[in-house]
Amino acid sequence: MKFIKEKIINDLYDLLSPCRLCPRGCGVDRLQGEVGDCGAGLEVRISSYHQHFGEEPPLVGIHGSGTIFFAYCNVHCVFCQNYDISQHGLGREVSTDDLAHIMMHLQDRGCHNINLVTPTPWVPQIVKALARAQDAGLSIPVVYNCGGYESVEVLKLLDGIIDIYMPDMKYGDDEHAEKYSGTPRYWDAVTAALREMHRQVGELTVKEGIALRGVLVRHLVLPHTIASSDRCFEFIARELSRQTVVNVMAQYYPTYRATEYTELNRRITVAEFNDAVRALQRYGLDTAARVLEHHK
Ligand code: SF4
Repeated sequence: MKFIKEKIINDLYDLLSPCRLCPRGCGVDRLQGEVGDCGAGLEVRISSYHQHFGEEPPLVGIHGSGTIFFAYCNVHCVFCQNYDISQHGLGREVSTDDLAHIMMHLQDRGCHNINLVTPTPWVPQIVKALARAQDAGLSIPVVYNCGGYESVEVLKLLDGIIDIYMPDMKYGDDEHAEKYSGTPRYWDAVTAALREMHRQVGELTVKEGIALRGVLVRHLVLPHTIASSDRCFEFIARELSRQTVVNVMAQYYPTYRATEYTELNRRITVAEFNDAVRALQRYGLDTAARVLEHHK
């Protein structure tokens, strides 16, 4: 992580009023405590933090990933498995000083990275905390573990601060994204965000089993090809690179409001998962994904 200048923090805080931290650009004045479409106001809110051993192996290593779960989310998936945190804001407010102490605590426990889960609505506050933690000696990689619906303007300000980007690529078209996650102009937003992330940090660099830098894309296979896995992988292979690490995830189950949609009201089949894996192979992305294999 590069040295974080005060100007970057100020530029990020400016984006809170009117808020345009994410592609929704809902324009509320968060500096005055107004709450946006994501549910976030001014004071950062977290649900928990701990050494996490359930993430991808290159993040977990031996001592775990230093995971901080933030409350609220700018993506409203009807099948969200953490909806109490992401949609209902379950958690507590912490100051940026508290957040910096949490980061240092996780580093002191031996964690291999600081893993920011759903950081998008809180980027200014997080970067301010990172600067304080940096002054106190924070040196492990910082992971931006997000839904992928990101503002390129914000990502550019994060250049050199974030070491590992771990975005979701949820859909291959706007129609399903709007219907099941309420995200307008999804495809343009996610593809622009992934291009910018890849430009900054490139492919995943792993040394002695531990990720140091790069992009790791997560893709959750949905029933009835709703996630358009084929189109997602085609984009990644053609416009990022075939060395991009993609985690194809099979753990979908209907929860939260997914039961209101017949087409989402079941787990995926083995055939649907195998189809997604074949698409990954077809675009030559399977070799890079082997770095994740012993996790599955
Ligand atoms: S981060 Fe939240 S408040 Fe800001 S534009 Fe996005 S949805 Fe609106």
